Amino acid sequence: MNDIYCDQIIPKLIDVEIVSETGHLFAFHHTNPYWERHIVIVPKDHIESLSRLTEDHELLKKEIMDTLIKISSTVEKDFGGCSIVTNVGDQQTSKHLHWYIYAGRKLRNEDGTMVKI
Ligand SMILES: [Zn+2]
Repeated sequence: MNDIYCDQIIPKLIDVEIVSETGHLFAFHHTNPYWERHIVIVPKDHIESLSRLTEDHELLKKEIMDTLIKISSTVEKDFGGCSIVTNVGDQQTSKHLHWYIYAGRKLRNEDGTMVKI
């Protein structure tokens, strides 16, 4: 299964630029950004997607919301605004809950090729 977060990012086998880290969450700059600012937020424990969160995850839910607020506020100051995205089910390429906060110029197309300037 394609799960770069459990396999490499969370155990810190890949060098990433950390944005913030809390008890249950890890936020870092995308290693292959699609946008000028492209931050990824993942829970440290494996959770498949947003739709798998339950009442057992109240602390994590609060940490996710606090982190989204904190990081999006910073990105808003830098870029004037941002988008916050998470995909569920068939829309996920990686089956580990992750959020993107992105802003600024688009660098890559959906297929990963560079955007021509
Ligand atoms: Zn995982």
